[in-house]
Amino acid sequence: MQTVSVTLIEKQIETPTVCRLSLAVEAPFTYYPGQWIDLFVRREQHQEVLGVSLTSAPAADPGQNTRLEIAVKRSAHPVTGYLHDQAQPGDRFEISPQGMGRVYFEPRLGDEVVLMAGGIGVTPLLSMFRAIRDRFTDTRVTLLYSASTADEFAFGRELRESAAADARLQVHFFVRADAAEPIPDWVQQRGRIDAAALERLDLPVLAHYFLCGPQQMLTDLHALLRQRGVLRECIHYESW
Ligand SMILES: Cc1cc2nc3c(=O)[nH]c(=O)nc-3n(C[C@H](O)[C@H](O)[C@H](O)COP(=O)(O)OP(=O)(O)OC[C@H]3O[C@@H](n4cnc5c(N)ncnc54)[C@H](O)[C@@H]3O)c2cc1C
Repeated sequence: MQTVSVTLIEKQIETPTVCRLSLAVEAPFTYYPGQWIDLFVRREQHQEVLGVSLTSAPAADPGQNTRLEIAVKRSAHPVTGYLHDQAQPGDRFEISPQGMGRVYFEPRLGDEVVLMAGGIGVTPLLSMFRAIRDRFTDTRVTLLYSASTADEFAFGRELRESAAADARLQVHFFVRADAAEPIPDWVQQRGRIDAAALERLDLPVLAHYFLCGPQQMLTDLHALLRQRGVLRECIHYESW
């Protein structure tokens, strides 16, 4: 398979289980907000691959996409442990030659978008949020973001600051009902994103909904949105 070389230029701890990696890409890179890449890591004579979403938002001109960003949660997948514990600035990896996946935001989808994230499932949705914030200014976006504990909200500060600065952007943070105190005041909701929450927030029926998170959450939210009258073709998600 054809691949593109990238260099790790920065690694930051984002939450107790998530690190954020900035990658310099050597060739113009084309992707849409919400797409993912395969990241190939060569270790001890063999190569391993991790599918991971791009959290960065693409520039209008692919030639300007010289920096990509990903965020990785530590899991049973060995590449995640390697990225957390060993990868260092200067390391080189290969990635797929362009963004992959059929779930992504395009401006033709209209002016009302709702994003629903569970945990690290926020990653592809963050790319869409950033693209709408920075480039697609005719679109309004509401993000519902659920995490197991308050310190597991990756990119929480950026999301809060963006929403505070622009009325087109809304963010609602949900923390699991049994999460230990203290819960910061910007986490408005306790419990899951469920029927009562959708009712309370009075979300539009005529909108495009993008979901990413644990599989059961996708199944449950899809059913809830259909019950509320959202058209099947307006509910977008991918399962890995
Ligand atoms: C398209 C796609 C892209 C992905 N991109 C990345 C990536 O870039 N980086 C990466 O590390 N992983 C990625 N993943 C992996 C995936 O997002 C996670 O494995 C999955 O979201 C679980 O995340 P978590 O462990 O943080 O969730 P958890 O911490 O287990 O759960 C997160 C939240 O979901 C809530 N929740 C759980 N079930 C339900 C339910 N039934 N209804 C409502 N709320 C519920 C919980 O209450 C909790 O608040 C991707 C997966 C897919 C399908």
